[in-house]
Amino acid sequence: MNQKSKDELISILTKEIESIQDNIDLLCLNIEIIEPSCSVGYDERFELLESQAVTSKNIEILTVRLHSLKHALKNIDNKKFGICNICDEEISFERLKISPDSKICVECLDD
Ligand SMILES: [Zn+2]
Repeated sequence: MNQKSKDELISILTKEIESIQDNIDLLCLNIEIIEPSCSVGYDERFELLESQAVTSKNIEILTVRLHSLKHALKNIDNKKFGICNICDEEISFERLKISPDSKICVECLDD
C-alpha cells in the first residue's frame, strides 16, 4: 500500500472513530435521561426498559467497532495491514475504504 492510500485510510479511520465515539456518548446520555421514575406506569416502564436494553446493545456494538477501528489505526504501519488473513493477498483499497478494519478479502468472504 502506498503512502497516499495509507493517509487516506488514516483520515477515514480518524473520522469514523470520532463519529462512533460521539454516538456512544450520546447513547450513554440517553440511557441516563430515560431512567424510569416511580411515577411512570407499568407499560411505560416496560417500554423504557426495553428501549434501554436496545440502547445498551447498540452501545455494545459500537464499542466493539470502536476498538476494532482503533486497532486498525494502530496497526496501519504493520506489514500485515490490508493483507487477507486467509489467502495472504492484498485486500482491495475500495474494500478498505468502506471498512478499514477488514481482515479478510472479498473473495475469501464469499467462500
Ligand atoms: Zn483472501
